[in-house]
Amino acid sequence: RYGTTSAQEPIKPPVTVEYDKLLINGQFVDAASGKTFPTLDPRSGEVIAHVAEGDTEDINRAVAAARKAFDEGPWPKMTAYERCRIMLRFADLVEKHNDEIAALETWDNGKVYEQSAHIEIPMLVRLFRYYAGWADKIHGLTIRADGPYNVQSLHEPIGVAGQIIPWNFPLVMFAWKVGPALACGNTIVLKTAEQTPLSALLVSKLFLEAGLPDGVLNVVSGFGPSAGAALCSHVDVDKLAFTGSTATGKIVLELAAKSNLKPVTLELGGKSPFIVCEDADVDKAVEVAHFALFFNQGQCCCAGSRTFVHEKVYDEFVAKAKERAMKRSVGDPFKTGMEQGPQIDAEQFNKILKYIKYGKECGATLETGGDRFGTKGYYIQPTVFSNVQDDMPIAKDEIFGPVQTVLKFKDNEEVIRRANNSPYGLAAGIFTQDLDTANTLTRALRVGTVWVNCFDTFDAAIPFGGYKMSGIGREKGEYSLKNYLQVKAVVTSLKNPAW
Ligand code: ADP
Repeated sequence: RYGTTSAQEPIKPPVTVEYDKLLINGQFVDAASGKTFPTLDPRSGEVIAHVAEGDTEDINRAVAAARKAFDEGPWPKMTAYERCRIMLRFADLVEKHNDEIAALETWDNGKVYEQSAHIEIPMLVRLFRYYAGWADKIHGLTIRADGPYNVQSLHEPIGVAGQIIPWNFPLVMFAWKVGPALACGNTIVLKTAEQTPLSALLVSKLFLEAGLPDGVLNVVSGFGPSAGAALCSHVDVDKLAFTGSTATGKIVLELAAKSNLKPVTLELGGKSPFIVCEDADVDKAVEVAHFALFFNQGQCCCAGSRTFVHEKVYDEFVAKAKERAMKRSVGDPFKTGMEQGPQIDAEQFNKILKYIKYGKECGATLETGGDRFGTKGYYIQPTVFSNVQDDMPIAKDEIFGPVQTVLKFKDNEEVIRRANNSPYGLAAGIFTQDLDTANTLTRALRVGTVWVNCFDTFDAAIPFGGYKMSGIGREKGEYSLKNYLQVKAVVTSLKNPAW
């Protein structure tokens, strides 16, 4: 059950920590206060490294560097082709160092090494190549207006972008944020999550090696209420992009409004429905629903965390979902064949156990799991609850852990109503072989992404973002560019009105 206990023995990650300072104006520097904070190995809770702790003064220094690199150049003044070449060189360097970066990511985050090495780092590379391709394809329109005017729109970079990212996919989030901002000619101050500061510093070093000019990308490690809030409030920051919890998203938006009304894009929480219809291929639906929830230890904003199953296939689905969860291999994420590593930290670990307790107390049926895994580190048993009701906390709140909740439904109308009855609207999965059911549910669900007979299919070109309290704006794809551009209308009077 749940892999092997010997997997609890930590395997030493094949990397050392070289970059633990702040990146400001092309230099790795100590925090102004001289303070550091520990970043921990989620497999054991042991300290990996002490990292420079940025605060207001460091944010000020980083914003000043980004401001200068934007106002005086060279970044926005370079040719788009030069910017494209630097981004491509960066992607090549990341590819070359793939395994070393993946090991550092797994060490700091606890995610399975094979996932870091074969999915996430390659995804970062793909995203940067995608955005490099955009750099020289950004242009405005010529517009036909009434009267003797020549009218055009210029699509210009917005300026200094403040970006705040979470800990669940540190490098994929780095790419979603940094890629479009740089392609459009902006400069950046990035605040990484305090749980996972290391990988962004390592890849930023490669960006400098690829020829990124000083001050274009500044990386500040540190905490939310100090460094994060200082970035949100800074009046020289022209735009904010944030990924994290809905509660923090509200604070970010408020700080932006109170300071200089900088525009904000938000990618927030979710409680995404995964709907298994009566005609679904049950075996496939079980496997994909399992993946939709348990992927990345359940630490995904778009996790399929409300598994709605039609009553005709409900018992079969629950039995098979339980069986699949019991087969899930849990253990040291550096070990080959592991599917699940530890949760990120003690706070998340305790929160998940609290929700499991609520589930038991509220009368949901615990099919499997329900406790920590092993005695060391932040591992949790893959857990499945059946007979879950809509008003239970495990069906309403984002648990962000390996806890699958299975709910029963009778017909499409009912499941549409219940699926939409959430303040969130990030994503949904639909399993059906009926075209009309797929199209009807797709149109009725108030969510930013619908996956039909698949889930978590990510691609650089596919837009991602939330309806309702799951966010504002879209990342990835062509849609993401407009977050980092402003439109300037240019109206030139013509002497000869006839033309
Ligand atoms: P989680 O609860 O999953 O850690 P958060 O939304 O708190 O999610 O964190 C996501 C990111 O937001 C992190 O980089 C964190 O440091 C940052 N953050 C947290 N609080 C604030 C805040 N008050 N202002 C700005 N950023 C914050």
